[in-house]
Amino acid sequence: MEIEQFRARLLTEQRETVEAIQQAQRSAAPVELDQSSVGRVSRIDALQQQALAKGLLERLTIRKRKVEAALARFDSRTYGLCCACHGDVELERLNADPAVVFCQECATERQ
Ligand SMILES: [Zn+2]
Repeated sequence: MEIEQFRARLLTEQRETVEAIQQAQRSAAPVELDQSSVGRVSRIDALQQQALAKGLLERLTIRKRKVEAALARFDSRTYGLCCACHGDVELERLNADPAVVFCQECATERQ
C-alpha cells in the first residue's frame, strides 16, 4: 500500500536525522579559545562553523520532531489525515513530504 511507503520513508529519514544531529552536536561543541594553540583567524573560523552547526542543529531537531509526530500518527491510525479538518491529505502532498500535517486547503488558510 502507498501509505506504507511513506512510513518506510519516515523511518529512514528519522534514522538519518538522528545521525545528522549527532554530527552537528560534535561541530556545535564549545570552541576552544586557547590563543596559544589556535590563531585568531582559525578561531573566528571555528566560531563561524560552530554558529552554522547550531543553526543546523535547530533545524534538524525541528524536523526530527515533525517526522516522529508523523510516525506516531501511524500508531494512532490517523496518518494521512489533516490535523485541522481531519479530511484526507492529498497523496501528492504526502509524496512531496511524508511528514506533512495539513491538507492543501488548511495549509493555504494558515499561510
Ligand atoms: Zn485540512
